[in-house]
Amino acid sequence: MTETAPRVNLLDLAPADAERVLREFAESRGVGAYRGSQVARHVWSPPAADFQSMSDLPLAFRAELDAAFVMPRLELAAEQRSIDGTRKFLFRLHDGQTIETVSIPDGNRVTLCISSQAGCALQCSFCATGLMGFYRNLLPSEIAGQVRELALLPEPVTPTNIVFMGMGEPLMNWKAVQVVLTILNDAKGCGIGARHITVSTVGILPGIEALAQRPEQFRLAISVHAPSDELRRRLMPVNIKYPLEEVIDAAAAFSRRVTFEYVMLGGVNDQSAHAAELARLAKHCGAFVNLIPLHPGGAGSYTPTSAEGIKRFAGMIARHGVEVAIRKSRGTDIAAACGQLRVERLKRRPPGAPNQNSQVEIA
Ligand code: SAH
Repeated sequence: MTETAPRVNLLDLAPADAERVLREFAESRGVGAYRGSQVARHVWSPPAADFQSMSDLPLAFRAELDAAFVMPRLELAAEQRSIDGTRKFLFRLHDGQTIETVSIPDGNRVTLCISSQAGCALQCSFCATGLMGFYRNLLPSEIAGQVRELALLPEPVTPTNIVFMGMGEPLMNWKAVQVVLTILNDAKGCGIGARHITVSTVGILPGIEALAQRPEQFRLAISVHAPSDELRRRLMPVNIKYPLEEVIDAAAAFSRRVTFEYVMLGGVNDQSAHAAELARLAKHCGAFVNLIPLHPGGAGSYTPTSAEGIKRFAGMIARHGVEVAIRKSRGTDIAAACGQLRVERLKRRPPGAPNQNSQVEIA
């Protein structure tokens, strides 16, 4: 028997690399390099589900593509829809890991919140993903694949914005995330403007530096959540390795404007002294502050700050001359905060048991 080489996963490659490989392949099969470019156009936007459905290619060549390349699908394991239009998707990967993707329509924008890791190692005390621990990094094909899968739905979801605010810490998976950024942004990939793509991080310094090196205008959001080391260490153990001051300095050195994310924890980080301190930090790096109402059903026994409390807190920050917004809480009826769908399903539905939750549609 002749040994067959492993098939190349086209979804793990930046679009230019995929096109080059495909052109060489097409030429080697005697169909002309342009056929390779033709295939490349079907990978991302709009995507073709498989090579067989690329009907503008000769049938024999499609079979040859099948033998040499793969474009693996992610299995849609569950979907939830919120009354506010937010949709949450649970994808099952080849090894049984499950990850979440959320689509959030808002006027004529559609933001996709994507996952970069299965689980998370950081254990932020209020976060559902932190509770489950870390399983593994996702491949580029599994991160960008989330966007591709939504584009392959019978009614395709086409995002205008992408945020890396699903499960995991994107800057602890930079090897894959850097390829994904190219795929999402490249005109021959998903073609989404770099300013519409936000990487959210707890403040992994080497990762922030790597992102800063990219010539594209990708946006950076920092999960600050506490304005002092003492409090931040309690909420976010990663603060021991990357202390607040160094994270703030990295944000200040970042060539583009950054956003501070600040989840409002009742009686914990929502006092006027916190607002003053947070405003000072934001001023130091010209950051925009996004106040996030605590999503119920995360980890820990926190209570959300009241709506009036959040408004008051925002007012105090604004008075310091810092731009501030209160994030609309979306999908609260479907547990759409980071990691919640997976946690909920693990809790409520042991493997093999029938689905007990009427809100979850099994696809
Ligand atoms: N690891 C990255 C990205 C994933 S989390 C980061 O931490 O930035 C995306 C955002 O959701 C973070 O700001 C995180 O702190 C926030 N988050 C996690 N659990 C939450 C909850 N229960 N309610 C509101 N926001 C939450």
